Amino acid sequence: MGRLKGRVAMITGAGRGIGFAAARRFAREGAQVCLTDIDEEGIRRAEESLRGEGLEVFGLRVDVTDRAQVESAVEEIVRRCGRLDILVNNAGVIRDNLLFKMTDEDWQTVMDVHLKGAFYCSRAAQKVMVEQKYGRIINISSTSALGNRGQANYSAAKAGLQGFTKTLAIELGKFGITVNAVAPGFIETEMTRATAERIGISFEQFVEEVKKQIPVGRIGQPEDVAAALLFFASEEASYVNGQVLYVAGGPKA
Ligand code: NAP
Repeated sequence: MGRLKGRVAMITGAGRGIGFAAARRFAREGAQVCLTDIDEEGIRRAEESLRGEGLEVFGLRVDVTDRAQVESAVEEIVRRCGRLDILVNNAGVIRDNLLFKMTDEDWQTVMDVHLKGAFYCSRAAQKVMVEQKYGRIINISSTSALGNRGQANYSAAKAGLQGFTKTLAIELGKFGITVNAVAPGFIETEMTRATAERIGISFEQFVEEVKKQIPVGRIGQPEDVAAALLFFASEEASYVNGQVLYVAGGPKA
């Protein structure tokens, strides 16, 4: 408790899933957390639930693919809280299909949300962080960066985020800003539920199949990812920069 006391965090796609779990974990550790998401209703529910636990959070509707929305959200956070210490680029979508069936739109949507979104948010946040001479940027990659059937768009974006992470780490390190990535494996969220639905099996059947491939013998929970995010977000991780941590119950997908 208290590892993020006095810190201000912005988490994208925090209305549910991994982003929500990270928001809860960070707020429990004493951070003031701004939950952002494209889904206004999701934000409202998340905000209500965390405030109900007595946590210091507030929500803003932000589509990460919209530069103006991202920039004004960062301004609003600084206006309310006086600083911005931690950014988690978590917002994500999938548009899975085999390459020969993948549309231009499937490709572009995934690139825009993951890559352009992380670019806009990081560029806006670093302005504040450079002035403060302190910051933590954490990108959410995926084991799909190593290749995954039906995810040419998503795996390219998630691999791209790893290069983005390492480059920002090199550029921003001298300002007291570290940039790292967490690459989750199979985590129980709406995203993996939607995958089961798309391939036409129940989520339970899907989990049984996936579990066989995971060395620890279980699927991941959003809280497993939040724990890794907390490490990168903490002050004590100041010498860990440009790294990708796989949180997948084993060394690979
Ligand atoms: P999720 O439950 O689907 O949550 C993603 C959130 O991001 C949703 O609330 C979604 O809102 C929001 N979002 C989508 N487009 C956005 C945009 N343009 N601007 C702002 N918010 C937007 O997914 P999750 O599983 O928690 O995934 C979180 C991150 O982890 C993603 O980057 C994902 O790729 C990554 N990841 C997940 C897994 C896994 O197994 N679940 C594994 C590896 C990596 P809408 O519902 O309105 O679209």
